[in-house]
Amino acid sequence: MLKKNDLIQLKITSATAEGSGVGHSEEGVAVFVPLSAVGDELTVRILKVKKTYAFGKIEVVLLPSPARIEPDCPHFSRCGGCVWRHITYVEECRLKEQKVRDAIERIGGIRTEIKPMISCDQTDRYRNKAQFPVGKSRSGEVQIGFFAFHSHRIIDCADCVLQPQQFAEVIRVTRAFIERYDVSVYDEATGRGKLRHLYIRRAEVTDELMICYVVNGNGLKHEDVLIGQLRKVLPNMKTVIFNSNREKTNVILGKKNRVAYGDGVIEDELCGKRFRISPFSFWQVNRVQAEKLYSKAREYAALSGREQLLDLYCGTGTIGLTMADSCASLIGVEIIPDAVRDAEQNAARNGVTNARFICADAPAAAEQLCREGIVPDVVILDPPRKGCGEALVGTVSKMHPSRVVYVSCDPATLARDLKFFAAQGYVTREVTPCDMFSRTAHVESVALLEKR
Ligand code: SAH
Repeated sequence: MLKKNDLIQLKITSATAEGSGVGHSEEGVAVFVPLSAVGDELTVRILKVKKTYAFGKIEVVLLPSPARIEPDCPHFSRCGGCVWRHITYVEECRLKEQKVRDAIERIGGIRTEIKPMISCDQTDRYRNKAQFPVGKSRSGEVQIGFFAFHSHRIIDCADCVLQPQQFAEVIRVTRAFIERYDVSVYDEATGRGKLRHLYIRRAEVTDELMICYVVNGNGLKHEDVLIGQLRKVLPNMKTVIFNSNREKTNVILGKKNRVAYGDGVIEDELCGKRFRISPFSFWQVNRVQAEKLYSKAREYAALSGREQLLDLYCGTGTIGLTMADSCASLIGVEIIPDAVRDAEQNAARNGVTNARFICADAPAAAEQLCREGIVPDVVILDPPRKGCGEALVGTVSKMHPSRVVYVSCDPATLARDLKFFAAQGYVTREVTPCDMFSRTAHVESVALLEKR
């Protein structure tokens, strides 16, 4: 029997979706080893033993996997962002394809073609958004960075290689401001202190920056000085917003925004269309990959120009609006009011006149549309991680679309929902994974369903 502190030799034979390598001890117990690679032969120290599995850490790499590379970020393994910086990108794509295949087969019970990953040319600096917690160390040093893995301890990080270098400049200016004016930082334990988070977005095509300070209050003393500094260093800064969050919660954004500079929005481009983005609206974090994902979704939608298209969970309207010229009419549904306003303006901005948007909970709105006798030919689904759920799948099926294009950021809930669709007579024709989140454990996919 394995015991804590045992040293064992282990060959890593697979990896979990969360980024741990897995091998089997002599007794056949699965041992999870973070930061290992499939193919590694290791000496592992056992840290924790459960009934049917155990956790260990690498003591010695006896024989490295051919997929191993030297991690190139000093924060890797401490920060909760990347999990795959120690293996090649080819291997990462293989593991992510496997994750999608496993979910579809095991959770969904579905046999279908899983296409090769739509991979990235650029695995660093691809993110256009960051939310940095702001704190101070015990000795009073300002910390702006990331929460450590599974914790709320802030790891100070001057520059994250997944993000644009400009974000490091914003951090630098903010840090200097906090030090100069001795700005208090929020303490999660006591609920006291002013500055909670720094939230930044960059529109890649226009190079516009949105900088949002989340404060436990309305704003910051001397904020004009801060804005002046930011403008000086970052001439492309388009807008500065103060978000007020006085709740004792780990939800980052509060409900109220105050625009302190600019007009509170930035504008980016996707698939040749322009989109305005406000702070509460969802926007794909990897623009280059989003264009590839949308073009796959467009291929799956196979529009001829005559269809009625329903885009559920539409955000700022992007997927539907990039297809609006190929369908007769478009209805978008989204729950965040600011995103719906963005979607309406984005339609107008792009000369789209056959679209309307509804601000509502997607399952409820679909029910309502179904009662009104709306019969979409194609339905796009792009829910958050928790997926659509059985009720919405039921309602969509009742509308009898000939095709459903399901965009998902969680293979497990996708697989569950594909199974619900199968029970309603919809066949999953194929699934294409798309790497929107290189080096992290997350994987996006898009599935095509057709009515049997
Ligand atoms: N299709 C968009 C947005 C996808 S993200 C794009 O590609 O940019 C998922 C979206 O679903 C978010 O905008 C989120 O605000 C919205 N959402 C979350 N729960 C919802 C619900 N119950 N009903 C409708 N929209 C919801």
